[in-house]
Amino acid sequence: MKYTSNRGFLSGTTLYVVVIVLLGSALIYGYREIYNLNKKVGTLTTELASTTALFSQNANELSQNITDLSAKASSTDQNIQDVKNQVGGVQNTLGSVSGSLGTLEKLSRIDPVILKKYSKVYFLNENYTPAHLTILPTEYLFSPNRTEQFQTESWPFLKNLLDDAKASGVTLFVKSAYRSFAEQQTLKTAYTITYGAGTANSFSADQGYSEHQLGTTVDLITSGMNGQLSVSFDKTLAYQWLTNNAYRYGFVLSYPKGNSYYIYEPWHWRFVGVKLAVYLHNNNLKFYDMDQREIDSYLVNTFDF
Ligand SMILES: [Zn+2]
Repeated sequence: MKYTSNRGFLSGTTLYVVVIVLLGSALIYGYREIYNLNKKVGTLTTELASTTALFSQNANELSQNITDLSAKASSTDQNIQDVKNQVGGVQNTLGSVSGSLGTLEKLSRIDPVILKKYSKVYFLNENYTPAHLTILPTEYLFSPNRTEQFQTESWPFLKNLLDDAKASGVTLFVKSAYRSFAEQQTLKTAYTITYGAGTANSFSADQGYSEHQLGTTVDLITSGMNGQLSVSFDKTLAYQWLTNNAYRYGFVLSYPKGNSYYIYEPWHWRFVGVKLAVYLHNNNLKFYDMDQREIDSYLVNTFDF
């Protein structure tokens, strides 16, 4: 019975221990499981975080790449535009070079002496003769029995002037046109004999200084002048018509009233080209008052209608 009682006691104690051990084991197992799960959750969270971070980084990189590509595309556009601009620039340069060549070619065919100012400082070489001279038809001459010549390229302008004057009822004749150096010298000698050296110097240009040697200058006369070149020419209808119209044909009065270069010569008209003559007329300027460099800029247009 005691034994039984002891056994019963022991048996009860053992049961407790077993239960406690079992509970403890269960608890430990549970904790371990929880710990392991926690650990897994922690790992998963970390993995998720790093995956997210990686994804985010990839997304950023992708976005950056798109931005770069977009920038490259626009810079390619810019490059294409730059190339186009350069090609355009080259085309323009080629255009202006060929334009310049055209201008140079045109200039090379125009005698530069044609627009020079002649004075005691700058004068035409005594050996100069125009490359092309045209013998004027006698119908335009005051003295048909005398041969008069005019610079060939300038002649159509003078012819138009004379024809239009005639059509307007104005009588104009060529009294004197091209004069060679020798003729000019002979003329001056004649003037010197008649009027004396002092008067002759201001009356007829010193040989070589004369614009008549260019072939582009003409002394004009009208009826009722007794064949004389005289200052009273400026009282005539012909002079009035020339003052109003000569510039349209490229002619200017070289030595107007009150000029400081030479005596007043209302009959003496020089061809300088329509463009320059129109410029002088519109600005109320005189050829000899212009700067030579500015005059020369009109040379290329001398024979433009
Ligand atoms: Zn003259």
